[in-house]
Amino acid sequence: MIEKGVAVQHVVFDTRRWPNELRVAGLEEQPYCYDCGTPYGLEDDHNTPSALDGPTTLANLRRRCRNDHKAKTRREAPRTIKAGRLKAKNRRAGAAGKADTT
Ligand SMILES: [Zn+2]
Repeated sequence: MIEKGVAVQHVVFDTRRWPNELRVAGLEEQPYCYDCGTPYGLEDDHNTPSALDGPTTLANLRRRCRNDHKAKTRREAPRTIKAGRLKAKNRRAGAAGKADTT
């Protein structure tokens, strides 16, 4: 699928937000909620959460209704919060490491 000259299946976008090219491709390829099949109130979701290093790619895009998106986010919370804390800890350690060398 080509959007504005971009073959979006093969692009890894360096952002957590869904770029328009992927949103448009997702709309066409996934007109129904991935979990329950409703066509209403769909939101773009990282199937593997970005907090767990899930990429912003068409392959990792799932369209889910608001309720299923919320439920999935709630189920993932223990893992994503833990990953977020670990990343913050590593950032602090990295910053401290840099401070030590100056
Ligand atoms: Zn749903």
